[in-house]
Amino acid sequence: MKIGFIGLGNMGAPMAVNLATAGHDVTGFDLVTDCPDGVAKADTATQAVTDADVVITMLPNGAILRSVADEIIPAMKAGATLLDCSTVDVESARAVADAATAAGLLAADAPVSGGIGGAAAGTLTFMAGGSDEAFANVSPLFDIMGQKAVHCGPSGNGQAAKICNNMILGATMIATCEAFALADKLGLERQSMFDVVSTSSGYSWSMNAYCPAPGIGPESPSDNDYKPGFAAELMLKDLRLSQQAAESVDAPTPMGERATELYKQFVEDEDGLGLDFSAMLPRFEKQTRG
Ligand code: NAD
Repeated sequence: MKIGFIGLGNMGAPMAVNLATAGHDVTGFDLVTDCPDGVAKADTATQAVTDADVVITMLPNGAILRSVADEIIPAMKAGATLLDCSTVDVESARAVADAATAAGLLAADAPVSGGIGGAAAGTLTFMAGGSDEAFANVSPLFDIMGQKAVHCGPSGNGQAAKICNNMILGATMIATCEAFALADKLGLERQSMFDVVSTSSGYSWSMNAYCPAPGIGPESPSDNDYKPGFAAELMLKDLRLSQQAAESVDAPTPMGERATELYKQFVEDEDGLGLDFSAMLPRFEKQTRG
């Protein structure tokens, strides 16, 4: 396939390389970064998308996605597919898909989980929204860039799945970290805490697969001085998107709201910026109730 790839940052560059390595003809554009090896460089976004069968965007946020979409949609050829893999608000995802469809294109939103490591290894998980036809068109590309793709329904539903998942993740990571810090103060060994909780009803991915306590459980960013991994500021971004979405449909999300406040405090007022999101544990360790 001829693929246009816009946004060649930490995630986009390795994803584009994997597509090129698999034999696709990939042309890339980024405002700042250079094209990685194997990806042809376009001078403008428009140039990258002309003639493309599929255009992939991997951009920082919904406002940038909307402005790039305004620029590229008129330049795309009829019947081509616009596939946005960025994490953005549900409203922007749906607005861009509507604009693409109105212009005679197919559209899918497919945010990812798996981080930079998953992007490089081609093991991302895609959560996709869009028509059956759009999903079928881009499925072979999901197989190259990832290990799993779930079609979650119409446009915007991929973003909805992503932010609901990450809202659960943010809240359970905080709960796991505060429980470890409480256990410390109660004189419970961290290994005992892990052995019990990881096999009891308090278990979760945060405890079992990504344990925030260094030296306990499988290897995780806590074993590497909390170097991300999944940075606290990216968790904050996703939590904010969850709250924006919850407001738009009047859904009560008290735990998501509190998790957003705590990550905001951690990233903006404390030392959380640049640390893994599991560094909530040393944060709680240092604090008292007051
Ligand atoms: P990044 O900041 O490294 O890359 C974004 C790229 O977009 C940058 O290179 C930037 O120059 C480029 N860009 C910005 N505006 C542009 C424009 N108008 N035209 C062309 N290029 C433009 O971010 P990233 O870590 O690659 O993340 C990309 C998306 O993936 C985000 O939405 C993020 O939330 C999501 N995501 C990231 C991770 C992660 O671990 N990094 C994990 C899952 C999802």
